[in-house]
Amino acid sequence: MASDDYYEILGVSRQASEAEIKRAYLKLARELHPDANPGDPRTEERFKQVNLAYETLRDPERRRQYDLFGAAGPAGRAGADPFAGFASGAGLGDLFDAFFGGSAGGFGTQAPTRRGPRRGEDAEAALDLDFSEAVFGGEQELTVRLPVACQTCSGSGARPGTTPVRCTTCNGTGEIRRVRQSILGQMVTASPCPKCGGVGEEISSPCPTCSGEGRRLDEQAFVVDVPGGVDEGSTLRLTGRGAAGVRGGPPGDLYVHLRVRSHPTLVRDGYDLRGVVHVAMTQAALGAHVEFETLDGIEELAIPPGTQGGRELRLRGRGVPHLQGRGRGDLIVTVAVDTPTDLTPAQEELLRSLATERDEPVADSDPGFLSRIRGAFK
Ligand SMILES: [Zn+2]
Ligand SMILES: [Zn+2]
Repeated sequence: MASDDYYEILGVSRQASEAEIKRAYLKLARELHPDANPGDPRTEERFKQVNLAYETLRDPERRRQYDLFGAAGPAGRAGADPFAGFASGAGLGDLFDAFFGGSAGGFGTQAPTRRGPRRGEDAEAALDLDFSEAVFGGEQELTVRLPVACQTCSGSGARPGTTPVRCTTCNGTGEIRRVRQSILGQMVTASPCPKCGGVGEEISSPCPTCSGEGRRLDEQAFVVDVPGGVDEGSTLRLTGRGAAGVRGGPPGDLYVHLRVRSHPTLVRDGYDLRGVVHVAMTQAALGAHVEFETLDGIEELAIPPGTQGGRELRLRGRGVPHLQGRGRGDLIVTVAVDTPTDLTPAQEELLRSLATERDEPVADSDPGFLSRIRGAFK
């Protein structure tokens, strides 16, 4: 484990501005995001630490507290900070405890390791994105209403000025151990203490704000870094953004389901985009350069001479960025050839000459005949 100093974790100085902290966080979060490093527990652990560090340093009040008291908070008690267990890799400790019967006998210097409060629930939220926001990604503000650590008691659940007392059922360990004989020898199994919920402590005088739960429902707004290339139905997992745990337990994760608004002229086709360009009959026949509005701005499309309706033109790299890896898909533009419907007499004359020149029989110009034809299609 590299460091437990939040400033070192984010790689910023203690004097860093809020903007510097946010920049450092977003850069690290992108590098370490579990979706970019599937199945790598060390990266995931660092990702959690980075989130934890940012969670504290982004909030001026919590940052001040951290500068004064460190991660344990003003009470100076390990575990008072609702995220402390989260940062120290409590999960791994649990695993070792279950297999080896804890460190109580082995290391001597410390009190029995507490199992620790239980993790908060995972939560879900929906986020609406514009079409180009999904294609290119970027920062989005998201507001969720979830249980957050109670600030009155720093998540401990105890009325300020009082301290929780050791749980008598589990003697403060937060778990009930049973020793049994098996063919492999003595086995120790541990389960959370039913009385204190695994916290190891009982509250004699509950915090008035949260009634001893250590958390309360509140609205939180934060910035989600949406990766480019997401689509309707994509889900982002935000580690540690779910509900705060009861009485200082680590937070759950937040799953953000993305909904993407449609675009007036473009549609997604995997990582490609598709659109239609309308050209005049003469442009299709003679070739032309026409303007086409892509997501990157207006681009010039070369219509080759003799282009047929339905021809597909490909703008390489003007599609959707690949979620994993580099590069972008293409923009495929289908040509639609528009037949003129508003010919002036002079233009009609020109077209008739062309038809005669090309030996292409056309309907005659008898006004009565034409109005009958038009009438038939009305
Ligand atoms: Zn409270
Ligand atoms: Zn207990």
